This record gives sequence, C-alpha cells and structure tokens, in this order.
Amino acid sequence: MASHISNGHANGDQKTSNIRDLPKTKNFTQKLPPDSEYPTPAASHKTERKQLGPRLVKNAAYTFVRPQPFKKSELVGVSKAALKDLAIDPASVESEDFKKTVAGEQIITIDEDKEPGDEDIYPWAQCYGGYQFGSWAGQLGDGRAISLFEANNPSTKKRYEIQLKGAGKTPYSRFADGKAVVRSSIREFVVSEALHALGIPTTRALSLTLGPEEHVRREMTEPAAIVARFAETWIRIGTFDLPRSRGDRDMVRKLADYVAEEVFPGWESLPAQVPSTDEKDVVGLQGGIPKNEIQGAGENAENRYARLFREVARRNAKTVAHWQAYAFTNGVLNTDNTSIYGLSVDFGPFAFLDNFDPSYTPNHDDHMLRYAYKNQPSIIWWNLVRLAESFGEIIGAGPWCDDQEFVEKGVRQEKADELIKRAETIIEKTGEEYKAVFMAEYKRLMTARLGLKQSKQSDFDELYSELLDTLEALELDFNHTFRRLSYIKTQEIDTDEKRKDVAGRFFHHEGLSGLAGSEADARERVAKWLAKYRERVLEDWPGAQEEERLSAMKAVNPKFIPRSWILDELIERVEKKGEREILDRVMDMALAPFNEEWGWNREEEERFCGDVPKYQRAMQCSCSS
Ligand code: AMP
Ligand code: MG
Repeated sequence: MASHISNGHANGDQKTSNIRDLPKTKNFTQKLPPDSEYPTPAASHKTERKQLGPRLVKNAAYTFVRPQPFKKSELVGVSKAALKDLAIDPASVESEDFKKTVAGEQIITIDEDKEPGDEDIYPWAQCYGGYQFGSWAGQLGDGRAISLFEANNPSTKKRYEIQLKGAGKTPYSRFADGKAVVRSSIREFVVSEALHALGIPTTRALSLTLGPEEHVRREMTEPAAIVARFAETWIRIGTFDLPRSRGDRDMVRKLADYVAEEVFPGWESLPAQVPSTDEKDVVGLQGGIPKNEIQGAGENAENRYARLFREVARRNAKTVAHWQAYAFTNGVLNTDNTSIYGLSVDFGPFAFLDNFDPSYTPNHDDHMLRYAYKNQPSIIWWNLVRLAESFGEIIGAGPWCDDQEFVEKGVRQEKADELIKRAETIIEKTGEEYKAVFMAEYKRLMTARLGLKQSKQSDFDELYSELLDTLEALELDFNHTFRRLSYIKTQEIDTDEKRKDVAGRFFHHEGLSGLAGSEADARERVAKWLAKYRERVLEDWPGAQEEERLSAMKAVNPKFIPRSWILDELIERVEKKGEREILDRVMDMALAPFNEEWGWNREEEERFCGDVPKYQRAMQCSCSS
C-alpha cells in the first residue's frame, strides 16, 4: 500500500506534518458539559474500560472514553484526498504513530504512562438521541464512535473532528458491542470519499484498519474494522432531540450557541433576516447583529436562533438536492443521521440508484419506503421540524430570548400564545425557504448535468421530468445516462434516424427490460427526448462549442460511481480473498470519478464503469453492520 500512497495527489504548497505534529484542539469537550460521572480525562482514564459501558447519561454533551484497540490490526486503506485536507504528510502514514492512532491503539494527545491532565485532549463519545423511522428512540449517542481530537489544517484553517468508528463500547452502546464489521466499514470508507469527490457535502474517511482476529457476531461471526473518519462536526439533529425530550432547556441553548459560534463561523455568518411584512420589523444586519436585537424592536422579528435554524435548513436543502441530482439514497434518514452542518452522515444501507426507480430504497427493512429515494426531500424536512421543535422556545421568544427571566425560567404563561405563534410563523417560512433552496440547487445541478447554461422554467417539465419518466419506464441507468449524454455531439442527433440510432447507447447491453414495450418504441421515445434536448443545447450554445460543452458535462457527470455491486465485489476480495491493492484502485476511481481512465487496468476500469450486471441491480442491505 505504501507505494500508492506516497505517489498520490500532489499536496501542493500546503504545509503538511505527521499526525503527532498536526495542530489539534478540543473545542467540543472544552466548551460543552461532560458526563458528570467522569468529568475529567483522569476520572475516565483510571476507570476500568468495561465500566464505561451503556447507561443513561444526563445533562451532558459527551463522555470521556478511550478507544478499545484490536488484538491485532492491519491498516489497509488511506484516502489521499483526506490526507491532503487534513494536511497530513502522505509519507508519514507508514509510521507507527499514524497506524496506532487510527487503530485506536494509542492516544497521541496524552502520555499514556501518566494520568492525563485536564489540559490534555482526551477522546470522547457524543451523547444524542433520535427519532428512528418516525418514532422517538430515546438516548442513542456514539455507541461505537470515539472522537480523538480536532485537527486544524494550518493552510486552509479548516477544523475537523477525527473519530474512530468501531472502537469499542461507550456509555451510548445500548445493547450492542461497539464494533463495526469489515463490510460496512469498507462501504463507509469508500462512499464518504466518493461523495466528497462528487461535490456532495459529507463526512469524510481517512483510513480503514482491519481487526482480522476480532470476532463480531452479526447474522454470522465476522471480523471487525475501524474507520477513522472526520467532519467539521458530528452534531446531528438528534443531538438537540435528546435534551429537548428531557426538558433540558439549558443544554439546547448551549448546543445552539456552540453550533453557531464554533461550528459555523459565528452568528454574523448566518443568513440575514427575512424582512417581515410588519414595517417595524424590517431590520437588516448591522455589524453582524440584527438591529432589532440591539434595540429590542420588532415583535415578530427573527432572532439569531431563528437564523441558525434557517442556516441548518438551507444547508440540508442543498445536500438533499445533491442526493437527488446524483441519485444517492442514505437509506436510514433518522434524525440521529441528519447533520446539523448539512453533511451526508452515517452510512448504513446506502446506495446510488442503478436503473432509475424513484421508489427504490436500499434498506431491506424499510417496508414503508419511508427513506426511499423520492421521499428524501420531505423526510429531511420532517427531521428539520423536529429540530424546530427543539428550537421552538428560543425561536418563539423572538426579541426577548436573552431576557434573564426567560433564560432562567422560560416563558411566562401569558406570553405563551405569542411565543407559539411567532415560532410557528418562522417554521412555516423556513419550510418555504427550504423548498426554494432545494429547488434552486436541484435545478442548478440538473442544468449543469444536462450541459445547459441556464435553467428555463419550461426545462423542468419538458426536459427533466420527461427524461426521468423515460429512465424509469425503460429501466435505464441514471448516472450512466448523464455520462453517455456527455459524449454526444449535436450533429450526431440532428435527424430522427440518427437519434433513434444513438438511443441505443443508453440501453443496457443485454437489452431493455421493464415495461419498455418494443425496442422500436423505446428508441422512438428516447429519440423524441433527444430532439428536444438538442434544441435546448443549441439555444444555450449557439456557436459550435461542442468540445467546451462536452468537457463541461464530463466534469459534472461521473464515469465512476461506487455502486452496490462494486462495493460487494470489493468486500468479497478484500475480506474473503485477502486482496489489498484492489481497495487502493477503487479508491483512486472514487476520488477522481470524472476521469476517463485511471491508468490501472483498462478492462477492469471499464467493467466497473459499465452496465450494472442485471441480477445485481438495485440491491438491498440489512441494517446489521
Ligand atoms: P445507526 O443505525 O448507525 O445510525 O446507529 C443508531 C445508534 O445505534 C447509534 O447510537 C449508534 O451508535 C448505535 N449503534 C449501532 N451499531 C452499534 C454497535 N455495533 N455498537 C454500539 N452501538 C451501535
Ligand atoms: Mg446514526
């Protein structure tokens, strides 16, 4: 593996270091309240590991807990893109420091022979709750993820929280073992980096370590793995659900302040106020602080918490738009799997759609199709409404959110109706905003994927809808269709005969399936769409700038997507057959999905980019991971 890593992406002029010297912080544990049973690193460190197991944890954002190392470990994959973004020197991944840190075998931020001091950075597991499949599930939390530290990239100034998934039991493990199996870890490792390379907001993955001698019991006994993953934040909507369910107003507020000040670049970075129709509420941003908050004006005005809620909604709207435009389905969009930062997070039975089927869910257990592809935009809004309920009181308090009496005791009885009304209005308006942001982003992405320069109102019905209906009816592959469209010159489709001929390029090489009718009908349908499409292309690109247009399309339409069948093959080869290099090769493809080739093995590359074997289309997974 070493050779592939060190000759990976150029790290530019960026200053890199080994993992030990990386600038580190602990904002999360410093600024938020710890589990009172183990309030300091020392208290946790001297406690037997076993004792730090499942229990209810109240009034806390996290518990200090160290990773549980494997008996034997093997580092099998490192993301070059992750190294770059974290400013880790690629040559240093062969060092013991790197391998032991990402395997949870050493806490690089303390001297393990001494009792850790309060000034040390000590690992922690986050406390959160969540609604699972629409029902309140109570306390969840990081049951098998342990955060190590926040890494600060000195060049980009970006801060990421690095955590190990599968690193042993925590107070939040409930009935489970704190471990992760190899198959789900390979899937998370690859897809995190693939989504990022596609430009989709996501949590990331740095490395994959196997524990070949660990025995994890699922349906069968399987070996274990640890993924070192990182994100701007791991705070989820579920992080707010839990204190709200316990009436812990103080914690909701602390978390909200933390998110605005530490995760986002400060209150002033949040969206400006939506002008109210009420004259006296029309106030702008002044020096970052809304005027009404300074003056206490504006009965119906949004306060800063309303703007925070809107920012979370806007970010999630954009992320779902990406999922829809690239046909990605998370599969388990519970509130604990919905990021406050709008990241794709927690990869269980996710999948990219193969043949376009809006009702597809990769989750074998989701009989109601709650988390099916087509339901993602509405389910994320459902989750955001749960967040709105957590924020309801501080949003509804409007201009008096900082009044001492309100902060300490909550709303006075006689003010309750006013508070509720204000909160409802803001939530409703944010719902509209969510829809508008989603639509604008979805249109922007689809316009680019179709190689158009602008989005016309009529494109939605005439181009997108008709294309999607055709893909569904003919069971054509969603992402392949866009890539294949990215090679077609307008003169190749300037007659009906040519269009019918070109139509065949979109069909599965084994022939059509589904309710397509005859092949002639299918060709006619695609040809008709191509005719409309050609007209739109010529409208936006009046000169013959074919090269420019097609290369712009290839830059947004991936050739490679880590589909379920590829991940299955990868798992089989890495886990069962002991292959190692294949993981690096697939990661190379995932990290550069728009490439034409990857300089590995043309035949294999083409196979991975080609038609999905028909019996492996639209596979489903169970939740056990
Ligand atoms: P997920 O379905 O991955 O979103 O997980 C839901 C909750 O179950 C989270 O609190 C996880 O930390 C926890 N969880 C899932 N699998 C395990 C496991 N093997 N050990 C401990 N906790 C787990
Ligand atoms: Mg989860």
